[in-house]
Amino acid sequence: MDKLELKAYGKINLGLDVIRKRPDGYHDLDMVMQMVDVYDDVTLTRLEGTEIVVRTDTAVLSNGKDNLAYMAAKMLMDEFGIVQGLEITIRKRIPIAGGMAGGSSDCAATLTGVNQMFNLELSKEELMERGVRLGADVPYCILGGTAIARGIGEILTPLPTPPKCHVIIAKPPVSVSTAFVYGNIKPDEIEKRPDIEAMVSAIKAQDLYKLAKSLYNVMEDITVPQYPVIQEIKTIMLENGALNSIMSGSGPTVFGLYDDIEKAEQTVKLLKAKGLTEQLYLTKFI
Ligand code: ATP
Repeated sequence: MDKLELKAYGKINLGLDVIRKRPDGYHDLDMVMQMVDVYDDVTLTRLEGTEIVVRTDTAVLSNGKDNLAYMAAKMLMDEFGIVQGLEITIRKRIPIAGGMAGGSSDCAATLTGVNQMFNLELSKEELMERGVRLGADVPYCILGGTAIARGIGEILTPLPTPPKCHVIIAKPPVSVSTAFVYGNIKPDEIEKRPDIEAMVSAIKAQDLYKLAKSLYNVMEDITVPQYPVIQEIKTIMLENGALNSIMSGSGPTVFGLYDDIEKAEQTVKLLKAKGLTEQLYLTKFI
């Protein structure tokens, strides 16, 4: 196979809790991850020669060796001694540095694609073991769907798909440093936390209203005071029919869940008119 077209899906966190800072500097987390139908196109094409080349449609993203898709291809091809020119083109739709694991997802898609293109016959688990070396969210992005993620995000328990609903994803035009958020969060002082157990039982019971009620992200305490636009977007969603609305990951992307498509469409119009967002999607869980 000379060319492979892949979809790299973004995720949102239905629940995000920070449990403790570990001696190695990472944080132990307790999260419910959900894939949404917003994806980057990742295309792998064999080239003459021996170089791995990355092309993206976004100037702010590196085309070099620090692109996670490059790192993924290089890692697997080196391990299996594959000497082959490869072009990786990425059409970005997932907000960059938005809290939706876009880089991890491009990385996961490239690992899966290289495995397929060169018949490496690695299982999903074997790809996930390698993926975690490149990023804590990479194993989840390989697994996909809905899952509890613990540890640094790599200890995964798959869950059934939550009940159907409409999801608005809104990325305001601000950049949040993940390092800043982790640097300022004090796990011992967190006053309110998500009830992950209640969330999981709502998902298993296919109860959208109970699920919406249980959405919670402890990182909002750090990010929202710095970027009031996040609260503005949440308020607009909540005042316009969202069952609930929270920030994803370390932000700044906000999502809202709706049971009514008309209200969701109305909210999208309103957010557009107010010019609060840089990227805006009306989508669904997958
Ligand atoms: P997370 O939710 O896992 O914290 P994020 O959505 O906040 O991730 P990403 O979009 O994954 O953030 O990007 C984080 C950083 O990774 C970016 O600042 C970018 O420079 C780098 N990066 C490397 N490769 C990629 C890629 N293919 N797509 C996006 N970012 C990439």
